[in-house]
Amino acid sequence: MKMKYTFLLPGASALLHNRFTAICMMITMLVSFSCENNQDVAPEKTALTPSPVLNYIRQLGFAENSIQENNTHYIVEEDILFPKNMVVPDDAHGRTEQYYTGSLVSFVNQSNIRVKIDASMTAAPDMTAEINSAIAQWNNLLNSRITFTIVTGTYDILIQNTNLGTGVCGQGTFPSGGVAGNLIQINKSYIAGNSFDQRQRTITHELGHCISFRHTNWAAQGESSALDVPGVGGTDAGSLMNGGQCGIGAAYLDTNDKAATFSLYPNIVSSLIYNSSYPFKITWNAGVKTSGITRYDIEYTFVSSRLGTLTGSGTSTTASFTFPWVSGQYSGSPLTTKVRTRFTDGTISPWVSASTTIP
Ligand SMILES: [Zn+2]
Repeated sequence: MKMKYTFLLPGASALLHNRFTAICMMITMLVSFSCENNQDVAPEKTALTPSPVLNYIRQLGFAENSIQENNTHYIVEEDILFPKNMVVPDDAHGRTEQYYTGSLVSFVNQSNIRVKIDASMTAAPDMTAEINSAIAQWNNLLNSRITFTIVTGTYDILIQNTNLGTGVCGQGTFPSGGVAGNLIQINKSYIAGNSFDQRQRTITHELGHCISFRHTNWAAQGESSALDVPGVGGTDAGSLMNGGQCGIGAAYLDTNDKAATFSLYPNIVSSLIYNSSYPFKITWNAGVKTSGITRYDIEYTFVSSRLGTLTGSGTSTTASFTFPWVSGQYSGSPLTTKVRTRFTDGTISPWVSASTTIP
């Protein structure tokens, strides 16, 4: 008999949602990233108030002379806002579509990122279809855990119409505290004359910011240095995450965009299968191999009253381990697995862990 169990992270509970709600009430906007804005005026150098948020900005790699502040925000490169009361990510260092901020949406949140469409987006011209197209692009990446869901109540990301002036299609917000960036502003009147493909491109692009992607062409844009996505760094003229391309950029995620999403948000450890017969066998799916990936590292810890604590590891897309079988002996035994990805360029993704209890 084969049984299949869905993995749940330890501690994945309503508690996290409550905490998220509290975070949302504390901060209205985490990090706003203006996408198509060209600013030529060099910011004045001013004395900066030391704080964890300032340290975080420095860790992201933004040049010291590009940081300014006012009463409520640090302002970087004149179009990225960091609220002084933002929640600084615990893992505020690190890795970058190709380029990213180093702060990811947490494992438990990746598969259900709730998107609310503000009434200002459905008022004429109604851009619901464009939003649906953008969400479908991300949701159709089968190798990635990222899944957006449109909701009407409690949300993670609000999409609203905002007059951003001339030259700015939209703005997105970087993730913080394991939660997707909470606001997308779309300059509807400015993009209304673009093609459908380009209008939905803008929304797809902003959703990319909300899950941590920076501009693939940050260097050409004169933006601060960004972190390579493990295994998928470098420039890419066909990337949908190139900035400064309102109305003319790639309308659909290209091969590297997809690989970058898989790198940061791999759809791994999605299922556990074991056979209740001799030999007792545990198998788990580590996802689908794509180019640029050398191998997966898989480790497990299995605790049973009969066998004690067992640990082991493997290095393939799927891994399985066998134990002596005694009927009913494993009921209630906890099993924890963790998986990470090794890339051909030598970089290694963070561990993703999951656990279950054998019934
Ligand atoms: Zn952008």
